[in-house]
Amino acid sequence: MMEDYPLKTLEIVCLGSSLALSGLFYYIYRKKRKTVDKLNEAPQLALDEELANLLNQAPGKCLQYVVIEGAVQPIGEPLRSQFQEASVGVIQKLVLREHKLVWNSLARTWTDSERVLHQRVNAVPFNMVGSGQAAVRVLCPLEATGPEMEVIHEKFHQATYGFTDLIGQYLSGEKPKGQLETEEMLKVGAALTGVGELILDTDRAVKLRPPADGSEYFLSTGDFETLRLEQEGQALVWRALAATCALAGVAVLLWAARRYYRRLQVKWERERLRREFERLDTRAGRATSPSSANGGEEEEGEPEPLENACVVCLNNPRSCVLLDCGHVCCCFSCYQALPQPTCPICRQTITRVVPLYQV
Ligand SMILES: [Zn+2]
Ligand SMILES: [Zn+2]
Repeated sequence: MMEDYPLKTLEIVCLGSSLALSGLFYYIYRKKRKTVDKLNEAPQLALDEELANLLNQAPGKCLQYVVIEGAVQPIGEPLRSQFQEASVGVIQKLVLREHKLVWNSLARTWTDSERVLHQRVNAVPFNMVGSGQAAVRVLCPLEATGPEMEVIHEKFHQATYGFTDLIGQYLSGEKPKGQLETEEMLKVGAALTGVGELILDTDRAVKLRPPADGSEYFLSTGDFETLRLEQEGQALVWRALAATCALAGVAVLLWAARRYYRRLQVKWERERLRREFERLDTRAGRATSPSSANGGEEEEGEPEPLENACVVCLNNPRSCVLLDCGHVCCCFSCYQALPQPTCPICRQTITRVVPLYQV
């Protein structure tokens, strides 16, 4: 029987999922926290001619995690925008999204839904350039977090439909709104902040690449401080989520503990009553036993208990005062056997039972 366990199935599910989510969020938070710590420790280097010399002296000609800023410059031909002739860039992202309204039968409204139909990313090799001739080649830019790119083109193609389409929409619960076409670009000349591993390659070129130790690789069109604060903010959000889920788990446990304690209290109270009635019974037994022992076959004892007998079993003496009605009509074992907690005489709900002390 489920009642014997301190936790109900639903509570176990709630507890399990809140603990699991809390653990997951805490894991993400720890990872983010580590990223923020690494960002805080990362030295910010100036992109100038000294950089190659600095790297030449570094062990393994490599600096593991550094911040560097410069302007985007393509190594060969840049990418040309498909929609704006004048725009040139080094990373280009073309996305086609479908927008439609979907009937939500729970909320009984139409809700917006978006789906990526098609996405294409193009990239050409590029450098970050600083003062003078100094340049850093950016490797694997698509593996980096970011950069946020400039929206070059955005166009919404409205869906058009006839009468039969309307019937189809009514039946399927889906109304196409149209398609959104966007082009984003990391433009030539944009200011870029890179955080990653810096190496001096055999061709004496300085290159920025994803860190070998698995730290997060960043490319950002904002400045470093913005990037750092953004990561810190994300860490705080994950921590708050983890704490909320842990608290929810604790709340479920407390709730179950409270319920369990209440049930124990009821059990103790019942046990206490039972013992009290038992004591009464034995006292009554002791009081009558000498008389029955002396009187021997005293048959006149029979009618006396009859007028005081329990209305249920007609055998034991009445020993309970039922509250709130106050009826004294049954013995304790019959009270315990009552199918519902209502008085057998007046049907009022029994809120409490008190032993009857006869002197
Ligand atoms: Zn009885
Ligand atoms: Zn009653």
